[in-house]
Amino acid sequence: MLDIIQLLPDAVANQIAAGEVIQRPASVVKELMENGIDAGATSITVRLKDAGKTLVQVIDNGHGMSDNDARLCFERHATSKISNANDLFAIRTMGFRGEALASIAAIAEVVLKTRTESNELGTQIRISGTKVESQEPESCPVGTNILIRNLFFNVPARRKFLKTNHTELRHIINEFNHVALAYPDIEFQLIHNNTQIFQLPSTHLRKRISGIFGKQIFQNLITVETDTSIVKITGFTGKPEHSKKTYGEQFLFVNNRFMKHHYFHKAVMKAYEEILPADHYPSYFLFFETSPSSIDINIHPTKTEIKFEDERSVWHILSAAVKEAIGKNNLAPTLDFSKEGVIDIPVLSKDQEIYIPKENINREFNPFETDEEKAFNYTRQKIDPDWQKIYEAKRNDDLSPGLGFDEAAGPKQEKFARYLQLRNKYILSPVKSGLMLIDQRRAHERILYEQYFESLKKGAVIAQNSLFPENIDLGPADYQLCLELSEEIGSLGFDIRDFGKNCVIVHSVPANAKIHDIKSVIETILEQYKNLNDELKLDQHEKLARSAAIAAAIPYGKQLDIREMQEIVDQLFACSNPNSTPSGKRILNIVKIEDLERYLA
Ligand code: ADP
Ligand code: MG
Repeated sequence: MLDIIQLLPDAVANQIAAGEVIQRPASVVKELMENGIDAGATSITVRLKDAGKTLVQVIDNGHGMSDNDARLCFERHATSKISNANDLFAIRTMGFRGEALASIAAIAEVVLKTRTESNELGTQIRISGTKVESQEPESCPVGTNILIRNLFFNVPARRKFLKTNHTELRHIINEFNHVALAYPDIEFQLIHNNTQIFQLPSTHLRKRISGIFGKQIFQNLITVETDTSIVKITGFTGKPEHSKKTYGEQFLFVNNRFMKHHYFHKAVMKAYEEILPADHYPSYFLFFETSPSSIDINIHPTKTEIKFEDERSVWHILSAAVKEAIGKNNLAPTLDFSKEGVIDIPVLSKDQEIYIPKENINREFNPFETDEEKAFNYTRQKIDPDWQKIYEAKRNDDLSPGLGFDEAAGPKQEKFARYLQLRNKYILSPVKSGLMLIDQRRAHERILYEQYFESLKKGAVIAQNSLFPENIDLGPADYQLCLELSEEIGSLGFDIRDFGKNCVIVHSVPANAKIHDIKSVIETILEQYKNLNDELKLDQHEKLARSAAIAAAIPYGKQLDIREMQEIVDQLFACSNPNSTPSGKRILNIVKIEDLERYLA
């Protein structure tokens, strides 16, 4: 079949969501791969230099273009995929706007070689910043070979906006995976700076998934299948025990197009509700098929946000299908996920105010020592009003223990147990006005956060505990993120090195954090970092300090001895804000003696 490219009539072009298609190298990769698919290719190779900033080349063996079309395809609204407004409701191709090549040609140097089967000789066309510089006959295989050099060479502001190679490559890998997952029967290759990242032969979905995410996932996939009049859903969902603390192996597709759909994500999570701890994510790879007229892929220029006609019904169908699949697999009732050590991830609301400590920590300060007045005056200036109340109490000697304890009489622990642990979760300590409750995990999170923030600022390396080196396998995108952050994570005391093939090797961890499960800690750091990335405009140090503190803080369920409790309390009170975690969760409070007395009244 020969594609004939035409310019969309204005009436149709105006109905299409116009937008900036090309934001980063990953958008180029995505658009070009989609063109290869639309051209019926069975093999697509992507080659990159410097995460696509210097070069993106996509080679497909699709039907190619005629000499004429090769020139026309760079015009805005030039497409062979739709021709009238009605076609917009029956889109089966990946592209349809006729914008991608025009947008790319406007901001890069392009060399296109292409040939159709009916032509013996192909054509080569060179374009730079929209200007056609040459077109000449070229002998080349059937298909299209397009080369994009020096992205944003004529838009310096945009070029400066590009992130590190690790980040840009991570985005590319994500886009590549979306396409590769949707078309397992097509062969794909991804090569970066002459290193092969993926070589994916033509296969079926389950094999394709494990080709991308590693062998271990192959046995951990449960088939999902349901067919209703509204939607057909097929694919796989992960066995609960394969769930991870990092988000990243969750994929939804509609008519073979990757989509972001928070609402449907919730539907899948609902199906796992009673099986997984709150901070675990199941992997899923789910494909919806529905009539193109019942969805609107036109609401967002990158085509990843898609509106469904009947979202609520699809939600229920999806949730039920996944739940049934898990049930059939007979896993649900037998699983025993220990809540021990489960991390309490703070939920950040968008409008929540973020506290960034500005002052240094006074490590000398301990409210239980003498010389209190000095310390008190030092600290009270930088505390929030709530905490001030507690300090007001302290001024009245309130924090000295009840029962007539005599400070001068000798070492504290020998006379009275000053701290008591409740449910391996709270530290209780008697104070004059009542009973102080401290959340052990949140307290430790605050302590670590301030230490980490400080050492990131200074670039000093926190003392390390070396380990027997431990290998950690990560998803391809998490792997890139981990490498990207490795230097800074290094100054927190994690010595992480590249081991190749989506694997890193950890040689040491911070000495102050009592880490048992390194993999889980690394995964948690990455996951937290990604969450903060999406939600808030925090700088990298802030995000990393918060993420690592959450990851390394002592969990609930950990039994503490008196000395450990003492240490936590001392360190907490030396923090610039002992009252709440960096994300604003309350760390401590005092139950007033009057309130206690009421219980006995
Ligand atoms: P769209 O994909 O939305 O139609 P593009 O700007 O991506 O717009 O491409 C314009 C046209 O160029 C396509 O409609 C198609 O006819 C042609 N084209 C682009 N890439 C290829 C390719 N790799 N093989 C064959 N034809 C292509
Ligand atoms: Mg296209």
